[in-house]
Amino acid sequence: MKILSVNAGSSSLKFTMFEMPEEKVIISGTFEKIGLPDSFYTIKYNGEKNRNEVVMKDHTSSVKILLDELINYKVIKSYDEIEGVGHRLVHGGDKYTQSVLITEDVIDTVNKLIPLAPLHNPANLIGVSSFKEVLKDTPMVAVFDTAFHQTMEKEQYLYAVPYEWYTNHGVRKYGFHGTSHRFIASEMSKMFGENTKIISCHIGNGASLCAIKNGKCVDTSMGFTPLAGVVMGSRSGDIDTGLIPYVMSKTKKTFEDVMNDLNKKSGMLALSGISSDLRDVEEGYLSGDARCKTAMDIYSDKIADYISIYNTELQGADYIVFTAGVGENSSVVRKMVIDRFAFLGVKLDEEKNNTRGINGIISTEDSTIKVVVLSTDEEVMIARDTYELINK
Ligand code: ADP
Repeated sequence: MKILSVNAGSSSLKFTMFEMPEEKVIISGTFEKIGLPDSFYTIKYNGEKNRNEVVMKDHTSSVKILLDELINYKVIKSYDEIEGVGHRLVHGGDKYTQSVLITEDVIDTVNKLIPLAPLHNPANLIGVSSFKEVLKDTPMVAVFDTAFHQTMEKEQYLYAVPYEWYTNHGVRKYGFHGTSHRFIASEMSKMFGENTKIISCHIGNGASLCAIKNGKCVDTSMGFTPLAGVVMGSRSGDIDTGLIPYVMSKTKKTFEDVMNDLNKKSGMLALSGISSDLRDVEEGYLSGDARCKTAMDIYSDKIADYISIYNTELQGADYIVFTAGVGENSSVVRKMVIDRFAFLGVKLDEEKNNTRGINGIISTEDSTIKVVVLSTDEEVMIARDTYELINK
């Protein structure tokens, strides 16, 4: 059964086609700069990547090109061979605790949730409507970034702010990257059994940690928005909100400008003064740049802080898992973080930590908490949910 896994952004659309239930990737691609004059797309098939520059005025034009390319590449003969489309939706509020088949009701509800995710939900919904325009009768599934975190208890998700903010306006911690953390929980249960306590560290450009007990989320580091938690590529992570009015008055920036600074000009970009890309900051650090060293220290400290919190919340974690761009690839960050737990007897096996592409345990036999590297796969998770829901 052929299933498309889709992630639509405001000007981009990524897709992967899977043969399910084998989970075999058939073809994948990215459409970028949709709506701009220099839009283009790349398709990856059989290990080859092809780039085409085509003006795409909107997402629907991209979807039409995508489907025609699937026929050109001979992966399908007609559109009806696509038996399901799974869409990544960022915000499901407290309405969705798991993935659902997309109905008019679901679209209405996600529309109502737009104030909670003003940048993401509208773009995700455009993705849904573009596919619906072309594949009218194909079942579609919504997979929410927030759903996995809905098992958090009030102690974890409430902020100590006026209670009506929560009851009247939904101000609470939601958490994001849920599909990735759920994938990690699922892989870990296959590898090490179900009754485990895991700290999943999704460290990419965006980054969040998640405490998982027996496959369920107990706590996570992103909050009402993805700005909270650890230091990220260009996001600040946790800050004292009291600095916002101060910076506004000192710099004469608007509130929107300051929020933009916190989302796009902070994090590793701000600390290093070089780049939001961890590879660049790591290179600076290794060649002795003082600001990059401070940046790397703060970065690792914040990750370690959250690991400590979750180790306590879980009353002793069994596993710390590193995933996503940085987590999977940077042995330097992993070492800087885990070295901070030497006092607890958590120890890396240096050779394993330095082995590229490792997918498994990288700590020593006697490490008190096992450290694991796993590559995440949100796309396959979306395809799995889609496959399951349309076969129910
Ligand atoms: P996102 O999906 O949030 O955009 P990714 O999970 O793709 O992010 O991670 C991107 C980050 O991973 C970038 O900061 C990049 O520098 C980092 N990264 C990728 N490869 C490496 C590597 N070999 N060493 C260190 N960092 C890496």
